[in-house]
Amino acid sequence: MAVSKGRASTCLAYGYRLSQQRDASGDRIRGLRDVDPAKAEIVSRIFKMYADGISPRDIAHLLNKEGIIGPRGSAWRDTAIRGAKTVGTGILNNQSYIGRIVWNKREYRKNPDTERRTARMNDADQWVSKDVPTMRIVSDNLWARARARDAEIGELYQSAKTNRLNATQRPEYLLSRMLECAECGGPYAISGKDRYSCTNRKKRLPIEALDGACCSNSKTITRHELEERVLNCIPVAFYSMEIFDRISQRMITHEVNLLKQSPSQRDELTAALKATTQRQNSIIQQISDRAAEGRPRLAALDDQLDELEATREKLAAELNALAEPVEDFQEKVAKLKAQFNPANMEIIIRKLIFLARHNADEQAKQRLMPIVRDLIQTVVIGKTPGHQPASLQVHSSIANIMASMEAIDVLEQQFLAAADLPLRISSRMD
Ligand SMILES: [Zn+2]
Repeated sequence: MAVSKGRASTCLAYGYRLSQQRDASGDRIRGLRDVDPAKAEIVSRIFKMYADGISPRDIAHLLNKEGIIGPRGSAWRDTAIRGAKTVGTGILNNQSYIGRIVWNKREYRKNPDTERRTARMNDADQWVSKDVPTMRIVSDNLWARARARDAEIGELYQSAKTNRLNATQRPEYLLSRMLECAECGGPYAISGKDRYSCTNRKKRLPIEALDGACCSNSKTITRHELEERVLNCIPVAFYSMEIFDRISQRMITHEVNLLKQSPSQRDELTAALKATTQRQNSIIQQISDRAAEGRPRLAALDDQLDELEATREKLAAELNALAEPVEDFQEKVAKLKAQFNPANMEIIIRKLIFLARHNADEQAKQRLMPIVRDLIQTVVIGKTPGHQPASLQVHSSIANIMASMEAIDVLEQQFLAAADLPLRISSRMD
């Protein structure tokens, strides 16, 4: 069977291309797949976004907005990403991405009455698989995180059915699954109205580390306060990483390149002047040719010549009136440098954070979400005396971020993609 030799028996999944390997007789070996690096990158991103709590619908929307072409050359749709768990379809359920080919998922039978072949799903325990490590795109760890997310959505869906609340529609929060109780190490989760509390304490679970006692951390915190306090430390962290300077430099380079590409007014005038002179010369040639042939002089040609001369004089005057081109360009660059200086970049990022914090702009929040979740590992919530607000300890991974610089690149791309962002945000803030 083809699969036992590490070959796929189904159609080409997204992220792969047909292998060009040939057998001894020089024929292409059918069913062999190679990883397509560019598409594999998209597969990884989809898994990562999903594991971070972004819904398949939002993922599809994001990819389409970035102009990334979906499977089979069409736009991305949430169904292609989500698929169906029981049937193992959809990008998020495709085991090829962890280097495993699965077959025997369906059984084909011929209906004796209609002679038609029908497919029936086999139970998952009847599926047979084979490891093909060369096909791996997603790490076991990331795959496990995606499965954990499935379970979470499943739970929400179950409780939604009983609560008659559509909980799967609830937005994923900025710090979901990153919160830890300082006393028992258990998770902090939302209980009641938008308020986080220690799950172990709420369930009255005996904690081994506390000699079988229950967690005594009764501090709760509203989601709004928690997110605000955590987001407040982000600009400081960015500042220490010189992110504002880097973004500022990139923005200026980008804008200056645009400036260089767009033809200057001087270039346009010079070109128009040249075209006018050429047309004049061509008419003068026609007039002198006619004279040489002894034909009568045409008034229409003289009129055209007069009109062209008026145009030429006007263009020449405009060109003379223009400022020196070098000065003009450098003036524009200076303006750009002032507009995109590090301090202004910082203001823009702070505004983004402000908007995200107040939930005023879902887009701002979505932009920040991967960065915040990359930057912060855990937030430990601890006891404080009396009615004082809970203590927060933010564990961040600035060292990791500085090594990978991935978050900064994401941020930079977003700034470059939305050149009108500063304008849009300042108009919202005013
Ligand atoms: Zn606890």
